[in-house]
Amino acid sequence: MKTITEERREIPVAGETDVLVIGGGLAGVAAAAAAARNGVKVTLLEKTIALGGLATLGHVCVYLPIDDGLGHRLYGGLAEELMHVCHRYSYDDIPECWKDSPWYVENPTGRYQCTFNIPACVMALDEYMEQEGVKVMFDTSVCLPIMEGNRCRGVIVENKSGRSAYLAKMVVDACGDADVLFRAGAECETQKSIVSTWTYELDVDRIKNETASNEVLANIRMRWFGLRPDVDNSGSGVPTFYGTTADGVNDYVHLSRSLALEYLKKHDRPGYAFMTMPTLPQFRNTRRLKGLREMQVIEGQREEHSVGIVIPSLANPAPVYEFPYEAVIDKRIENIAAAGRMVSAGGIGWAIMRSIPNCVFTGQVSGTAAALAIRSGVTLQGLNVEALQQNLADTGVVIHIPEELKHNSEKEPRKYERALGLASLATDSLSYHGKALSEH
Ligand SMILES: Cc1cc2nc3c(=O)[nH]c(=O)nc-3n(C[C@H](O)[C@H](O)[C@H](O)COP(=O)(O)OP(=O)(O)OC[C@H]3O[C@@H](n4cnc5c(N)ncnc54)[C@H](O)[C@@H]3O)c2cc1C
Repeated sequence: MKTITEERREIPVAGETDVLVIGGGLAGVAAAAAAARNGVKVTLLEKTIALGGLATLGHVCVYLPIDDGLGHRLYGGLAEELMHVCHRYSYDDIPECWKDSPWYVENPTGRYQCTFNIPACVMALDEYMEQEGVKVMFDTSVCLPIMEGNRCRGVIVENKSGRSAYLAKMVVDACGDADVLFRAGAECETQKSIVSTWTYELDVDRIKNETASNEVLANIRMRWFGLRPDVDNSGSGVPTFYGTTADGVNDYVHLSRSLALEYLKKHDRPGYAFMTMPTLPQFRNTRRLKGLREMQVIEGQREEHSVGIVIPSLANPAPVYEFPYEAVIDKRIENIAAAGRMVSAGGIGWAIMRSIPNCVFTGQVSGTAAALAIRSGVTLQGLNVEALQQNLADTGVVIHIPEELKHNSEKEPRKYERALGLASLATDSLSYHGKALSEH
């Protein structure tokens, strides 16, 4: 490849903080809140102009279940709290039986999950960060970590003011693609993603037929274009793309949008319109950390350093796994923690950890760890894990699998009136009955 030499130059230090969170998706928001609540100064840098990441700008407004399908609420802490922040100023579809956050519901009428309104969620997240005392910088793209050996001093950013630096004692990489950790030299794994794009549609004819319903979600539908992750797409002939290269992102965006356009050309008629489109490409898993430890997908197995239990959100009943602290840190880099869909979990574990509740959970883990490490003057590798476990447990996180949930997958599944998600939404959770590349 042809190259040129970039000129050396002095750049201003735009800010100094204790914890710097890169990326304002739900993992980054959780990391920032957790760090701030543990008494340190926090700045969050976000390249777009809204918080929520894929959950808002990527249109994935379905907060998957935090119960095991058998009536047990498995997540507390921020994974539960943020679900309620997401729907604070709009509708939600949380079944009545879960509204008071019980640990156990004898006969649940549905899963503890939630669909939320995207603009209202964006504004609720703005307010949430303000209330937590987090400084948020929008329209600020992180380019490079500033490394001194195994330590990160901060990052170089680009925004409307030009190029500058933010310095910090600890960094949380919550950018979704492990860009910061990778550029800092951490060992990572990359993966290609299937193509998809979702758009809200307005269909006046359908609304006329359903006027009896006052429910917004019954009247405004999300339309899905592209491939589903839960079927074998190998025969589809549709390319998959890396979300970690400029060409990969561009090819992905062009193809996914052309699918939506194809549909519009065929279905353009009075009374029908697309209302919105995602402004983040809908990449699922792109690049992840291969950390000090990998999460083990072994049902019921005890992890001495577990920092919380996690589930594959779509499973019913859901097997329960313990998530080890060392899966958010690198073997060598002392002060960059991972949060969200890029933590250290291989194979099926990676797919499990990308659900919104799990991203928020690892955000809380990394934000808390960063703050505690600053307060005790240690590296992330030197952190007292018992103190971290205690801190998380105090917020409602379940650290180890309760005895009665160790063999969940062998139990009889619960039948619910409605399956996962709303009929009006095409999501990861619905089963696929057509050809691989299709309009829903
Ligand atoms: C099509 C699709 C369907 C899905 N369906 C569901 C579902 O139904 N329910 C569910 O729970 N999960 C679902 N998921 C998974 C889930 O939406 C995501 O894994 C999760 O929202 C990721 O959160 P995150 O905070 O880790 O990352 P992201 O949401 O990707 O956030 C990363 C943030 O970092 C910012 N950023 C990136 N680079 C930089 C940089 N250099 N400088 C500054 N900021 C930067 C981005 O702008 C973004 O705001 C789905 C995902 C996809 C793609």
